[in-house]
Amino acid sequence: MITPETTIFDDLESNVRGYCRSWPAVFETAQGAWLRDENGRDFLDFFAGAGALNYGHNNPVLKTALIDYLTGDGVTHGLDMSTVAKRKLLETVRDTLLAPRGLDYKVQFPGPTGANAVEAALKLARKVTGRQSILSFTNAFHGMTLGALSVTGNAMKRAGAGVPLHHATPMPYDGYFDGTTADFQWMERVLDDSSSGLDRPAAVIVETVQGEGGVNLARAEWLRHLASLCSARGILLIVDDVQMGCGRTGPFFSFEAAGITPDIVTLSKSIGGYGLPMALVLFKPEHDVWSPGEHNGTFRGNNPSFVTAQVALEHYWSDDVLEKSTGTKGKRVAAALNDIAVAAPGISTRGRGLVHGLVFDDASQAGKVCQVAFERGLLAETSGASDEVVKLLPPLTIADDELDHGLRILGDAVETVCS
Ligand SMILES: *Cc1c(COP(=O)(O)O)cnc(C)c1O
Repeated sequence: MITPETTIFDDLESNVRGYCRSWPAVFETAQGAWLRDENGRDFLDFFAGAGALNYGHNNPVLKTALIDYLTGDGVTHGLDMSTVAKRKLLETVRDTLLAPRGLDYKVQFPGPTGANAVEAALKLARKVTGRQSILSFTNAFHGMTLGALSVTGNAMKRAGAGVPLHHATPMPYDGYFDGTTADFQWMERVLDDSSSGLDRPAAVIVETVQGEGGVNLARAEWLRHLASLCSARGILLIVDDVQMGCGRTGPFFSFEAAGITPDIVTLSKSIGGYGLPMALVLFKPEHDVWSPGEHNGTFRGNNPSFVTAQVALEHYWSDDVLEKSTGTKGKRVAAALNDIAVAAPGISTRGRGLVHGLVFDDASQAGKVCQVAFERGLLAETSGASDEVVKLLPPLTIADDELDHGLRILGDAVETVCS
């Protein structure tokens, strides 16, 4: 491999940079499931912008709409002014996402990041209930701002706050114990015991699949139990669908399969469709207690994102073709990963839709597998408490032969590292 010219990044860019260390290449162009570096080397992308590129790089349908919008001098920056692009998006959200699912949600445009959506959700839950504390889950990840960090598990990320992270209490996620302890035994007990020391929380925030936390799956019955436990006690249920929404697990919303209706839902990452920054907070109308401007932000009105978001919803979510294909492709991935896990000791696999993990008993092997995979032209990243999981997030639009190609590289990398 040609050593990439990275002097300016090493010299000038902050030490905080991360992914460029795992993938030492200088990328120039991208199309579909592929990234190309400046030396013309192609890499298959099984990371998809951490789930921000569910429809692939430079998706041609979205690109055409975006170019037309820019060429026509469509509004680019619009604060939260009403624009034609936003109207069209809201109409599509109503007609394509909400109405067919029987969901009655108001739509908030926070600042265009997942963390900002989470901050808005936490603030709203506190305002609605008049309570301060939030329950979160072990291994959760909700973003890097202070409120989001307070409900995030990872010690290194939390320490970055530099101040105490208050008003949040972690609870065991599905499967955190040995499988014999009854789900919610602890949570129900401390919620209902006035002497437990736990203040009645405003909300519970949960991911249906913990992406950063290691591809941990919450079962449908666990989510239903959580939802009923919350509603019986007047605690709001926030589903953070920033990474698992937009079809990653199959259906548009990751909670659909469980048949629950959260009070508040956060979306970002792939909601803009094209990898452009955007976020949404959805909530039941009775919770819309915001005063005008009470949660604002300069870049709430990133209209080019609204254009690509609208076209993505119309193109991919007016029928169930993408949802079905995600299920089919997911089975293909699961079968291949199962073969890999069966062939090598100390590896297991788990996943849903098109998010999958290869879990290594020896955590150090996961990082080595990603490194070897990169050398062979595949981008994949680790996740989990000890970076013990190789997390696979290919674009949902990836072709079967591309999927097979990436899975072969992965299998070879595992063989190289583990034998
Ligand atoms: C990525 C992510 C966030 C944070 O989103 P940013 O855009 O990075 O701020 C929040 N929650 C979940 C579940 C995420 O995966």
